[in-house]
Amino acid sequence: MNQAEIRQAARQFAQQEIPFDLARRVDEEDVYPEALVRKFGQTGLWGINIAEKYGGMGGRSVDAMPVYEELSRRLPVLAWLIGNIMLYGNDIIGANGSGDQKKRFLPELAEGNLRFSFALTEPDAGSDAANISTRAVFQDGAYTITGSKMFITGAGVSDYVVTLTRTAPSRYQGITAFVVPANSPGYSASPLKKLGYHGSNTCAVHYEAVRVLPQDILGGEPGLNRGWQHMTSLLNSERLALSACALGIGQASLDETIASCKELYRFSHPNARYQSVMHAIAEMATELEAARRLAYHAAWLVGQDVECLKETSMAKMFTTETAKKIALRGIELLGIEGGLLASNLQRYLRDVLVLTIGGGTSQIQKNIIARQLGLETK
Ligand SMILES: Cc1cc2nc3c(=O)[nH]c(=O)nc-3n(C[C@H](O)[C@H](O)[C@H](O)COP(=O)(O)OP(=O)(O)OC[C@H]3O[C@@H](n4cnc5c(N)ncnc54)[C@H](O)[C@@H]3O)c2cc1C
Repeated sequence: MNQAEIRQAARQFAQQEIPFDLARRVDEEDVYPEALVRKFGQTGLWGINIAEKYGGMGGRSVDAMPVYEELSRRLPVLAWLIGNIMLYGNDIIGANGSGDQKKRFLPELAEGNLRFSFALTEPDAGSDAANISTRAVFQDGAYTITGSKMFITGAGVSDYVVTLTRTAPSRYQGITAFVVPANSPGYSASPLKKLGYHGSNTCAVHYEAVRVLPQDILGGEPGLNRGWQHMTSLLNSERLALSACALGIGQASLDETIASCKELYRFSHPNARYQSVMHAIAEMATELEAARRLAYHAAWLVGQDVECLKETSMAKMFTTETAKKIALRGIELLGIEGGLLASNLQRYLRDVLVLTIGGGTSQIQKNIIARQLGLETK
């Protein structure tokens, strides 16, 4: 499939399978939308970024951006959940897995049969990700993992959790990623209530002496102490996936604002006939277009294998902040109609507020951009 066909398949799925009342129900009930995740397999898109020899489409991570964008126009949390598996299953195993791990996991991932999560963040290691203290200790031929993780998407419903652990004192060279089966004795995950992305099953996770084998290290035994490199190899893909999610939320917010401003009559006129409203909407559309260009230009640079850390950080920061502005402005233009819990706009705003934090906050993206511009940051 080419990019246009991928977008069309995702759009059709979103429009047919996710009516707005279902999207609102997922938000209200705050339960992992298992049936929708499973149904997504009908599109045949799970394997976009898996090599053909493992049953995938042979594309790259950025090829999935239109999928995240289109799904986010209806139900942002579904895009986030599918992206989570495509990044932390398909991509991380495809790029860093051992031969055995690729053979074992990739064909199943391409079929949509496996759920993966990624556990890096800890109570004292969020923005300062290398500060992790969950440890894996080797003894008698196995590693024992002990510690806690926070805000881990899908951790209570996944089959495997790629878990970053400390295996040596060195800040960056002492981190190892393990592919931990979620049914391991000692593993537990409890969902957290949060502002947006309801249904994401974002969990606090505990590892109580979880036993794993050397072959469970991501990349097998040569992957020991290479977890930081494994993680950073995904940074551009992760930021662009989240950028695409933001573009979808921005577009949905803009569409909803335009439609609602045409329907809302004030002083005998539709709101959309007031010039101040029209100008606000024109600005929203322009900023969204600028954000889209920035994100897809960065994706193009990734496709050219060009160094583009600055551009992907700019894209993550600008798309999420722009979508936040659009959702908020939409609510302002509609008055309390936009703020009613039955309105999609308030849901988009709550989701995008969370999106500015996950995958590196806007402040951290600015630090990275500043560093790339030759400035020192703390
Ligand atoms: C919905 C959701 C899902 C998530 N899913 C996952 C997941 O699946 N796996 C995973 O590992 N993690 C996940 N995360 C965690 C996410 O990556 C962290 O929330 C993020 O890295 C920020 O860390 P923190 O929330 O601990 O904020 P903190 O690091 O505590 O930051 C608090 C504030 O201080 C600011 N700040 C911190 N340091 C600096 C600095 N040096 N300069 C300027 N400002 C700074 C931040 O920008 C922020 O405003 C998820 C988060 C969310 C919200």
